[in-house]
Amino acid sequence: MKSTLRVRFAPSPTGYFHVGGARTALYNWLIARKAGGSFVLRIEDTDEARNAEEWVEGILSALTWLGISWDEGPYRQSERSELYARAVARLIDEGNAYWCGCTRDEIDQRVKERGGPPGYDGYCRNRNNPRTPDSALRFKIPRPGQTVVHDKIRGDVVFDHENLDDFIIVKSNGSPLFVLANVVDDMDMKISYILRAEEHLPTTPKAILLFQALGMEELPVFAHVPVLVNAKRQKLSKRRDRVAVEDYREMGYLASAMVNYLVLLGWSPGGDREFMTIEEMIELFDIDQVNHSPAFFDEKKMQHFNGVYIRELSADEFVNYCLPFLEKNDWWQGSVKQLEVFSKIAPLVQERVSLLSEASGMVGFLFQSDIEISSDLADSVLRKDPKSAQIISDISEIYLNLSEFKAEQLHDATRRYCDSIDTPLRKVQAPIRVALTGSKVGPPLFESIELLGKKATLQRLVSAGELIGIRNT
Ligand code: GLU
Repeated sequence: MKSTLRVRFAPSPTGYFHVGGARTALYNWLIARKAGGSFVLRIEDTDEARNAEEWVEGILSALTWLGISWDEGPYRQSERSELYARAVARLIDEGNAYWCGCTRDEIDQRVKERGGPPGYDGYCRNRNNPRTPDSALRFKIPRPGQTVVHDKIRGDVVFDHENLDDFIIVKSNGSPLFVLANVVDDMDMKISYILRAEEHLPTTPKAILLFQALGMEELPVFAHVPVLVNAKRQKLSKRRDRVAVEDYREMGYLASAMVNYLVLLGWSPGGDREFMTIEEMIELFDIDQVNHSPAFFDEKKMQHFNGVYIRELSADEFVNYCLPFLEKNDWWQGSVKQLEVFSKIAPLVQERVSLLSEASGMVGFLFQSDIEISSDLADSVLRKDPKSAQIISDISEIYLNLSEFKAEQLHDATRRYCDSIDTPLRKVQAPIRVALTGSKVGPPLFESIELLGKKATLQRLVSAGELIGIRNT
């Protein structure tokens, strides 16, 4: 039987979908899945000036990519204004809201003159004020009094009503404010559990007062998850830090790795355990163990997770995950031949990358008709060591005479050559790798040379030789 637990994820589509939002969505989703309840998706798009349809699409596609599926919605607040209007009428009728034309300065001045804490008796509070073009609708906070938020993560948080504003619920232009629409929807959608970002905690007593004024008998459970901070312990910000889920997706993160990393931002299953499948997360996740201190969003650690997840893919899965990244390059046509070559090198690349996007950088040399060697690399690897010119020239000769152009023979021949000039293999490999791939790092060299083939290998060795001034005779 379906449980009556109902959670919601209620993003405002005002920008790229933030990793903090993804973590909030994930926790809600885990709670719903564990209890067999429902996960409702609600787009909070009442702020016309800041919303855009592209952000809505971004949220839906990021959630889908992460595997966070919704049971209901997406509902859009912009399509539900009638409901808010009815709630507003009720609040006015029952004396819980009043039109007020006071400016912020006037209110502050009055508070100052009368003394007392902010919010105390600073408002006109005349429920019979007529509505004028400049007036906004304020909720009338009952004073004196206090509201206690029973928070699953922070315990009881007490708010004295003297410190709460008679907050605006409808702007002068008639549009409902966030807290009103949010509460009316939570009631209408029978949300029983509200898990959201810590930044909303100061709004929660206002939400509770609204719930009560609108006749809600049983309040939902509240849980405010900790903020995410960067290495300097600053709150993650989209201006300073990389926070968009979409960016990580484009860099070549696997959704499974990202979800596993995100779940640990504020929670741990206990012990040293960090890696979990989705099923294990659903089973183990426990809101009572979520920490209230800020969680460090450590991109390096997330990338390490991604590498671990990449290595766990089957060879075919890895190839398929790499395809969209290969397709971004003009040298990739996706022909049967190219796929065959990539499939051969892929297992070696899989061992060496922690982002899918790194794979195409490592294999491009196999598919380009010509490679470019940067002047930096030419100087530092090919020209600096006087031996390099000799190595390139000798190796060209040796490879030319190989009857079988396979990794093993290439390896043996190169090793014999190293012994003959009394130089370690790694020193000989460096100029060869740069000559053939245009890079200092990449998949294992001899397998790469085999795949590149004899003709291209010899051509590139000649070109590299020319670059460092070896004359062909
Ligand atoms: N729309 C709010 C936001 O995106 C969320 C409000 C809530 O979860 O209650 O921050």
